[in-house]
Amino acid sequence: MMSFEEARETILSHVDRLETERVELLESLGRVTAEDIIAPFNLPSFDNSAMDGYAVRAADCDSRASLPIEGYIPAGGVAMPIVAPGTAIKIMTGAPVPKDCDAVVPFEEAEEADRQIVLKAKVRPGQHIRRAGEDVRRGDTVFPSQTPIRASEINMLASLGRSFVEVYRRPVVAILSTGDELVEPGQPLAEGQIYNSNSVMLAAAVREAGAIPLVLGIARDDRECLRQKIGEGLAADALITAAGVSVGDRDFVREILTELGVKQILWKVNIKPGKSSSFGIYDGKPVFSLPGNPVSALITFEELARPALMKMMGRRQFIQSLLTATLQEDLRKIPGKIFFARVRLRIAKGKLLAWSAGHQDTGFQRTICLADGIALLPAERGHFHAGEEVEVHLFSGTLNLAEAATGER
Ligand code: AMP
Ligand code: MG
Repeated sequence: MMSFEEARETILSHVDRLETERVELLESLGRVTAEDIIAPFNLPSFDNSAMDGYAVRAADCDSRASLPIEGYIPAGGVAMPIVAPGTAIKIMTGAPVPKDCDAVVPFEEAEEADRQIVLKAKVRPGQHIRRAGEDVRRGDTVFPSQTPIRASEINMLASLGRSFVEVYRRPVVAILSTGDELVEPGQPLAEGQIYNSNSVMLAAAVREAGAIPLVLGIARDDRECLRQKIGEGLAADALITAAGVSVGDRDFVREILTELGVKQILWKVNIKPGKSSSFGIYDGKPVFSLPGNPVSALITFEELARPALMKMMGRRQFIQSLLTATLQEDLRKIPGKIFFARVRLRIAKGKLLAWSAGHQDTGFQRTICLADGIALLPAERGHFHAGEEVEVHLFSGTLNLAEAATGER
């Protein structure tokens, strides 16, 4: 059986970045650049005032008690080509500073009366002027290809006059649940049936990762139905199936995948939960077969499938960084497999603390609702004790550490 790290590496080595596409700026949020962004001009593009005030020649200000106001430049205005010595120009924030002026006196530091100003403070050459190119120089690479785009990157692109940007395409990820016991939420349940919660859960996790879910519904545990639904799923950029991959007498998923031409790369990983996960490749596209248990399905999505989707979407860092947390209570574990423990996280005095989020058996779905993170407990270790340090990462959908810190769950 492959170790977790080996399995994840194997999966990552079989997937590649998708093609790129040009999208409008707002569409690029959460995507990853597929071009180096090179500044076509300086930012700021001209010397401009950082304050509402008066543009002056600093050298004039020591010798004169007052300066006449000889002009006005609003934001969006044009600077006068010549400013006579010993005069001031009323200027607004962002307005171009005339080339003869080398300082801006803020309103707060001058008294205006009868179109004259009396200075209340010393004037330093250069003060309150934003110089052309001091932020970004023409020709600078402001950010390289494979940078994730946030509101701040969108601002930069727009400031450079861009309305489009080249980004990596998002994969369409087909999601197929299998099982005779499954009924779609909203429908009545008969005895022995349960709701298909995996489909919508995995769709949410796929969307949260930035990819596009394509929900295929439920395949019954019969070969013909599986053949048809899996066939549909193989047309997408990636396929995730849930359930039917263990050793039950109706677990046909792997058999049908192989029959349809999916090359099985790995089956069974030395992890808990999710031992029976498998991974294959079809026409260069990843096929993940995850366990049916929703807790196991979500954790294996997170640990094995998500990094691959991140890589396909152009991310350079496709594996979540681990943080160190101090356990506040014991966590039971038997040596042999890496254990993904669902943990509650809090920040106290700047330190990350971890508790078990609840019962760790995979039958307990509430525990994933209470979890802020996953603790990766190494294979070789046995029980962990309160006070020990563990490595954790945030759980799918936990927006950030601040959310964990405020204790909203
Ligand atoms: P299996 O892998 O088919 O043996 O399923 C493992 C467990 O997960 C069983 O208890 C199933 O009833 C449950 N399960 C399978 N598929 C789903 C699903 N789509 N939604 C919720 N539970 C499921
Ligand atoms: Mg089943």
